[in-house]
Amino acid sequence: MFECLLCSKKIDVRPNLLLLLTGYVPVRDRLCDACWQTFKEIGPSFCPGCGRTEKKKRYCLDCRKWQKRGMAMIENRALYQYNEEMKDYMARYKFIGDYRLAPIFAGKMRKVIRRRVKEEKIDLILPIPLSEERIAQRGFNQVDAFLPVFAKKVDLLAVKASHKVDQSSKSRSERLRTKQPFELKEGMKEEVSGKHVLLVDDVYTTGRTLYHAAQLLRQAGARKVSSQTLAR
Ligand SMILES: [Zn+2]
Ligand SMILES: [Zn+2]
Repeated sequence: MFECLLCSKKIDVRPNLLLLLTGYVPVRDRLCDACWQTFKEIGPSFCPGCGRTEKKKRYCLDCRKWQKRGMAMIENRALYQYNEEMKDYMARYKFIGDYRLAPIFAGKMRKVIRRRVKEEKIDLILPIPLSEERIAQRGFNQVDAFLPVFAKKVDLLAVKASHKVDQSSKSRSERLRTKQPFELKEGMKEEVSGKHVLLVDDVYTTGRTLYHAAQLLRQAGARKVSSQTLAR
């Protein structure tokens, strides 16, 4: 009766009142066990810079490269490893625009963001914006589903109009070379000044996007910039 959203295998969902009345299927029953198991959580040992799984808690090679370039490190934390299955999931969610896939990890992301806001005294939550063309094409920003409802979310950043090239169609080295793609929206400098800002994105790959945003926010006077992604 129910099918796994990813592999279409039949799932036994025990009928209950909520299901009968509203058709609501809990998140754990929307994927089959085999699909759930392909997602690998990031364990207790990770790089303090980008949040990737590491045997020892120290900066990974990628992060040391940012350090060498003289960038102030950001504290990214991620929930899952960016393995093939996670890449597949994101491709279906983002590029095919399968919005049924949004709730799969949304609850966990909201929870971790709420915890970090409290523990790390975060003042502002800032989803990495998409260009207007991209929003028009895709119809949604995939990151919005990850934000807690209460979120003190402010649209501070805009994608510069000149930055139209689709990031995912570029190679890694091309992405690393790109210029600052963001600008601060008008009158937003005051909002940032002295604040601890948490950037939220779906995945940390090269880190370029987050470092660009962080740099802009620091220039505008942010006290600290951290970030949270679903995958690394
Ligand atoms: Zn499945
Ligand atoms: Zn790292």
